[in-house]
Amino acid sequence: MTNICVFCGARPGFHAAYAEAARAFGQALAHAGCRLVYGGGRVGLMGELADAVLSAGGVVTGVIPDFLSHSEVLHPGLQSCHTVTDLFERKALMMEMADAFVALPGGIGTFDELLEVIAWRQLRQLDKPIGILNVDGYFDPWLTLMEHAVTEGFVERAEIDRLQITTDPASLLALMRKIGP
Ligand code: AMP
Repeated sequence: MTNICVFCGARPGFHAAYAEAARAFGQALAHAGCRLVYGGGRVGLMGELADAVLSAGGVVTGVIPDFLSHSEVLHPGLQSCHTVTDLFERKALMMEMADAFVALPGGIGTFDELLEVIAWRQLRQLDKPIGILNVDGYFDPWLTLMEHAVTEGFVERAEIDRLQITTDPASLLALMRKIGP
């Protein structure tokens, strides 16, 4: 089974399009027979995504740090959940388990997780596909910053060109599986 690790907001954002995209990506994962690996939350886009996978008959594994694993945050319906000591252990386990990584819209946590996998790949500590679901151009300013870093000589263009960026959930998943292991 292909494990797709998804980073996304613990908040829903201000526009319905974000939750709609999270649900569509969750359905696509379930229909493709992929397992969702994610932060284990029931809140925001994380909750929308996990609910969509579960209602479509799919499989979800959460990886949640101990300090977040109380009932207001932890999704109650997951088939499996790993409780880890801290955020470092969570990232390490997610990176080990996943065959590919996808970022949906989110905040500081999502940017941190996305940049961490890109940084690991840049240093050849990871060789797995990384995709971005650019819902309603949410990542455009972030991509502009990355482009700025390239033109100013701090980032290799190849690192940014290797990112798979689309607005369509099903095609992003197809891309992740095509270039995956
Ligand atoms: P953010 O983008 O700041 O909302 O953070 C979301 C990302 O950080 C997710 O991909 C999770 O891995 C992690 N995270 C942040 N808040 C939570 C939470 N309340 N429950 C579970 N994971 C969380």
